[in-house]
Parts: sequence; structure tokens; C-alpha cells
Amino acid sequence: MPEGLEPSRAASPRSHQNAGTVDAVIIGAGHSGLAMGHHLASRGIDHVILERGEVANSWRTERWDSLRLLTPNWQARLPGYAYAGNDRDDFMDMPAVIRFIEGYAQSTEAPVFTGTEVTTVSPDDNGYQVETTQGSWSARSVVAASGGFNIPHLPACALGVPDHIAQFTPHSYRNPSQLPQGGCMVVGGSATGLQLADEVLRSGRPVTLSIGEHVRMPRNYRGRDVQFWMDACGLLDERFDEVDDLVRARQVPSPQLVGTPDHETLDINALTDQGVRLVGRLATIRDGRALFSGGLNNVCALADLKMNRMLNTFDEWVDERDDDPGEGPRERFEPTRVDKRTQLDLDLNGGGIRSIIWATGFRPDYSWLKVPVLDRKGMIRHHGGVAQAPGLYVLGLNFLRRRKSSFMHGADDDTSDLASHLHDYLGGNLKSAI
Ligand SMILES: Cc1cc2nc3c(=O)[nH]c(=O)nc-3n(C[C@H](O)[C@H](O)[C@H](O)COP(=O)(O)OP(=O)(O)OC[C@H]3O[C@@H](n4cnc5c(N)ncnc54)[C@H](O)[C@@H]3O)c2cc1C
Repeated sequence: MPEGLEPSRAASPRSHQNAGTVDAVIIGAGHSGLAMGHHLASRGIDHVILERGEVANSWRTERWDSLRLLTPNWQARLPGYAYAGNDRDDFMDMPAVIRFIEGYAQSTEAPVFTGTEVTTVSPDDNGYQVETTQGSWSARSVVAASGGFNIPHLPACALGVPDHIAQFTPHSYRNPSQLPQGGCMVVGGSATGLQLADEVLRSGRPVTLSIGEHVRMPRNYRGRDVQFWMDACGLLDERFDEVDDLVRARQVPSPQLVGTPDHETLDINALTDQGVRLVGRLATIRDGRALFSGGLNNVCALADLKMNRMLNTFDEWVDERDDDPGEGPRERFEPTRVDKRTQLDLDLNGGGIRSIIWATGFRPDYSWLKVPVLDRKGMIRHHGGVAQAPGLYVLGLNFLRRRKSSFMHGADDDTSDLASHLHDYLGGNLKSAI
């Protein structure tokens, strides 16, 4: 441990005999890094958790004001820790999420060093040299739990947006008061895009929503939250080595879900009922004109079809049981209503659009990783979280090991698997693939 530094949570049950040298460095004190720390501690593996901000930094600094989890409180569970309040079916707001993760760090006595940004990780004779803004560590293994959503992803055509239009990402947007008066175009039809389109519209600004491929989901089905059904049917536990097309599975957008006190469904029909104008996927911006795909009808029909397939899965699961855990009959929902001919272009210089919010996804930031494991898109090449470099692991990515991997409740199984692998690696008795 570098001289003069103590874990911020004064929690490590072990003293580090060898200053600056540990078996494992975990980068990031979000829920993934903390869960990994819990499993390493239970296996007696000496480790530290290095965090550039505070515990739960992403939830403190990178989320908009009104955001609530789209997963209900009963799904807030981490290894050795779970939501213990009375509102199991409600959805946490950001202060509650931060308290929950902070509580986890405290209860597990996690050896977290806050305000410690990792600037480089490179190979050395011991394994890895980890340089930080607060000193150096040498570690036999490194776990990148630095988050899968560090940088908002913008399409290249964003460069063509005229200067007079204010642009925001889900990281820079906090609430509608930041936006100029007048029309707003929200680009992206997944959870973030729908939630922000709804909020901006309610602030009195006309909203144009550009939608490509998306995943439609009702908030409730047969009287229960949709997450109940996904959990019960085992959809969330589907493994990375069981799906036909893993590359595709990892690119599936987040479901159109919102967690609100009234448990309402927020889908495209709900937004168009309120007055949102729909356009297809933004294809490009040329000479100040936004050009949209004409395939909106098709992507909506496909999303409806896939939703109905998922509901069939729920129904079949009920049919195979003696009891019915649902509280209502089978349901099918109105197909998404889309005009036959949708608008194909929009003059961004015409004054109708004053701001754009890019809800077009996120990507991780591994710019600090100086180990030759990054592909051309800057993603770590890995097999279920085991990177293609000995002793290097990654967490918190979409479908890392299971469909639930990027959600809070996915961390337990993933970190348990990877902590076992790391334990075997350190002991020199690695078995084959995990
Ligand atoms: C808008 C949004 C809504 C979401 N809603 C839900 C939801 O409803 N339910 C759910 O279960 N999940 C949700 N998620 C997904 C997921 O739970 C979060 O992304 C979660 O933050 C991921 O946890 P993590 O620990 O893997 O990463 P993070 O929480 O991002 O933690 C990574 C940590 O690493 C730190 N870090 C990064 N780089 C460095 C560095 N170089 N040096 C030191 N520290 C570093 C960061 O500061 C951060 O604290 C949502 C995600 C987003 C983006």
C-alpha cells in the first residue's frame, strides 16, 4: 500500500505487508467492483478497490435528476446484501441507489481508495503495474470493474448538427431547464430516449423522437411486474455460451422500461398519445437537414412481434405449472401505432428544433489499459469476463456472462464465477474454460 494512504472506508480486515503489492487490484467502486471484492475477500485474496471518485460515482455524476431504476427494489441484491425496505415493488431514485451501494461498501468493509484514478495498467514481472493519481500498485491480477457506460456514444453524423442547436447526452443532461425553449429532437428509442422524450415533452417543449431498432416491454403483465416474469422464466439467467449469436445478444438495446411510482408503461403509443412526433432512425445529417430511415413501421412491427414472443414464453411457463403465480388473464397489447408514411427529413435550420438529446447508447472507456487485449473498437477481448491476458478480468458489460450481467442483480453470479477463476489463476491450478 503506498505510504500515507488508508482505505477511505477504513475497512480492510487485512494489513498489506508489502506496500504497493497486492494479489488483485479492482478498478472501480460501483456495485460490480464491490461485489467482486466481496467474493475475493471470502476466498482470502488480498485486494484493493481503486475509485477515481466516490463509491457509486457513476450514479452520483452521470445520471439525470429524475432517473429511477427500471428494476424493482426486490431485484436490488448483491452478494451478501439485499434491499431490506418495505417498498419491494417500487423503484429507487438516485439518492436511494447511492445509499444502497454505499451501504454495501460499508457492510462488506470494502478496501476502497476513493479519489484514486487509474491512469495506466501495463504488464510487469509480477503481473501488472497499476499507475494511479495517488501512487503505484503492483498486482498479480487486475479486474476492470470500471463500468460499461462511461462514454455516451454519438453517431458520426452528430458532427453535422448546425451550431445554433444545443446538444446534450445522458451524461450532460440533468433536467429540462437546461434546454432552450422550442422543439427538441431526442435520438434513440430505448429506455433512456423514451424517458427523456417524456420528460422534455412534459416541460412544454415539442418533441421529435427518432427511433431505430428497440425492445418493447410492458411494465406489467398479468398483474405482475415484467421483471418478475423474466426472472421466473429464467430469461435473465440465460448464459453467454448458450445463445446462438453472442455478438448480436451483446448489442441488444435496453428495454423500453421506466420505473415510476405509478408503475405505468411508457411505450411509443403512450408518447404519441401525448403528442410526440415519431420519425425513423437518423441516417445522416446533410447540409443542415436530418434524414431519417423510412423503416419505422418495420422496426415497430418487429418490436411488437418480439414482445409477443416473450409474452408467449411467460404464458407457456404458467401453463406448465400447477399454480398460476400471475394475478390476471393472458394479455396482448395494442400494436405500436405508426403513420403509414413517416417524415423522412427535417430542416434543422428551420427553427423547429432548438436542442438535440443523443440517447444513442454508451461505451466503456479503457484508455488507461496498456495491455494488448483491446479490439479495434477499444473493447476488451474476453471470454465471459476472462480477458485474453493472464490474470486480467472485466465486469459490468452487456451479456458478459448472462443476460442480466449489466444489471445490479447480475453481479453476484458473474463475480462469483470470475472470483473462482481468479483464485485458481493465482493458485496456479486453472482448470479449463468457465
Ligand atoms: C442510464 C442508466 C440506467 C440504468 N438503470 C439500471 C437499472 O434500472 N437497474 C440496474 O440494475 N442497472 C441499471 N443500469 C446499469 C448498471 O447497473 C449501471 O451501469 C451500473 O452503474 C454498472 O455498475 P458497474 O459497477 O459495473 O459500473 P459503474 O457503476 O459505472 O462503476 C464503475 C466505477 O469505476 C470508476 N472508474 C472508471 N474508470 C476509472 C479509473 N480509470 N480509475 C478509477 N476508477 C474508475 C467509476 O468512477 C465508477 O465508480 C443503468 C445504467 C445506465 C447508464
